[in-house]
Amino acid sequence: MSDPFIHYGRQSIDDNDVDAVLAALRSDNLTQGPRIEQFEAALTDLTGAAHVAAVSNATAALHIACLALDVGPGDVVWTSPNSFVASANCAVYCGADVDFVDIDPATLNMSATALAGKLENARNAGETLPKVVIPVHFAGRSCDMSHIRSLAEEYGFRIIEDASHAIGGQYRNSAIGGCEYSDIAVFSFHPVKIITTAEGGAALTNDAALAERLTLLRSHGVTRADHLKVNRGEGGWHYDQIRLGYNYRMTDLQAALGASQLTRIGGFIDRRHEIAAIYDRELAGLPIRLCEAPTDGRSALHLYVIQVDDPAVRAHAYEALKAHRIGVNVHYIPIHLQPFYRARGFNPGDFPAAEDYYSRALSIPLHPSMESEDIDRVVAALRKVLT
Ligand SMILES: *Cc1c(COP(=O)(O)O)cnc(C)c1O
Repeated sequence: MSDPFIHYGRQSIDDNDVDAVLAALRSDNLTQGPRIEQFEAALTDLTGAAHVAAVSNATAALHIACLALDVGPGDVVWTSPNSFVASANCAVYCGADVDFVDIDPATLNMSATALAGKLENARNAGETLPKVVIPVHFAGRSCDMSHIRSLAEEYGFRIIEDASHAIGGQYRNSAIGGCEYSDIAVFSFHPVKIITTAEGGAALTNDAALAERLTLLRSHGVTRADHLKVNRGEGGWHYDQIRLGYNYRMTDLQAALGASQLTRIGGFIDRRHEIAAIYDRELAGLPIRLCEAPTDGRSALHLYVIQVDDPAVRAHAYEALKAHRIGVNVHYIPIHLQPFYRARGFNPGDFPAAEDYYSRALSIPLHPSMESEDIDRVVAALRKVLT
């Protein structure tokens, strides 16, 4: 019998999670019931953000975050090329243009220094400055938010944190998602992320007006709130559609799962750190570069990324590890190299640090339900394949 496949990322579901979803399934509300608010309250407790809108996925959260900040045709949004395509697509959904800021090879996040340089160049050249910048907390490690925030104040852009990898992480002494340095932060609850609701996401903010917009946008632009309605006093049935919104709602089944998962988030992240510490120790000495832990916070450790010294080895290592039934992956193909973005004018060489990193990158399995035998198998296979 062949060894079981070890996924690079995977959900951890226990009996309490199953019971929570079953209870929702047997209740009166499969969607738009009380479990959404309970999950949202747990998210604000965890992060310290004042407001949150749970939605159908993080891509939807990024879309309505851009809309809430009035991103539209003629605007430019900047993000990191080292991310999933959704970090850029959200701006295109709004009719805006996208540009990228290269990464810092030490953190794999958008370089705040590169951002400062690009802003200065754009201002000097009289080019359009970004309306919104979307830093992505790659692998769960926060970007240099304090620096990015000071640039936002200088250049007048707004900030959406793509914290899809980073719920449960910390920056300085605050929880990622608390929006201390940003206008809106977004989480993903896809099964490979830190906690799951199957599909799911959330947008968090400290700004009550933005929160009101996010809530409207996730549900058709429709409201029953008297202070927002144009037509008042017609009767209890009456709702007003006051702008164009979407059906981006989360269901109560998903929220029940999310709330149950959130009770275990501390253990999930501790376990990720334990496994990463074993990898750090056991993989030292191989011809690879390991990620360094941040000194300005604590990563949520969504991913454990290694970089092979010789890019020529990467494709072979990927295939050989898959043959050992080790679920490796590559995060990320630089967004600007995707055919869709090439057709919008981007070229190889535009963001060299992201491209160099991509040529060496390999994400190896890291998730809380890995057993010690799994970790041993990953280490043994990497030693065999890389030496
Ligand atoms: C997963 C992910 C998304 C999209 O999340 P969904 O919930 O699948 O829509 C966006 N940005 C980043 C960085 C991600 O990793």
